[in-house]
Amino acid sequence: MARSPSRSLTLSEGLLAELHTEMRMCRRCLGAGFSITPGAVFSGPASARFLIVGQAPGASEAENGRPFNGSSGQRLFGWLAEAGWDEGVFRATQYITAITKCYPGKSSGGKGDRAPTREEQALCAPFLRRELDLVQPRVVVPVGSLAVRRFLGSSRLSDVVGTVINEPDGRSIVPLPHPSGVSLWLNRSENQERVHQALAHLRRLHYQLEPG
Ligand code: SF4
Repeated sequence: MARSPSRSLTLSEGLLAELHTEMRMCRRCLGAGFSITPGAVFSGPASARFLIVGQAPGASEAENGRPFNGSSGQRLFGWLAEAGWDEGVFRATQYITAITKCYPGKSSGGKGDRAPTREEQALCAPFLRRELDLVQPRVVVPVGSLAVRRFLGSSRLSDVVGTVINEPDGRSIVPLPHPSGVSLWLNRSENQERVHQALAHLRRLHYQLEPG
């Protein structure tokens, strides 16, 4: 998907900076009674060609204001190294966001983080739509089941990880599982092979869209 000719990159950068301020100030979920930690977490410039969408930030991400800052990030950037990216370069040049931007807190059982509710996802959805509109990425990488459902409906990870879905507007979707250590899906060898296939697709797209 090419950037709209009627909107220059400079204009998109200005509008994206305004959106970032709005997201940082947002307290919608608190207002609706959800006990999130306010402070939206995201990163990246309007010029990004690749956009990663996770589920929601974790405690480490909320504390540091940096997406995929914790142990999940170590695995994710290990994967991206297989696709030819240095972590620092990826963070500086590509966009990373989430279905909901604020830390949802621990699950009721205390093990792991709470998944955002449908209402929280709906409250935050306009922000993701605007990020996509302003960045206009050529490749979207939904990470984990929640993000995969946002872009591909009810698709199961096993059906879509390892494939590239080309949309009519020219944008490619390359799904990945969530890199969290608690992901049981990743323990199966056939699923690890699916991840390697997905990374091979990302590597090809990386060098196709950013040669040299
Ligand atoms: S998760 Fe999204 S909608 Fe909810 S308070 Fe944070 S930025 Fe606002």
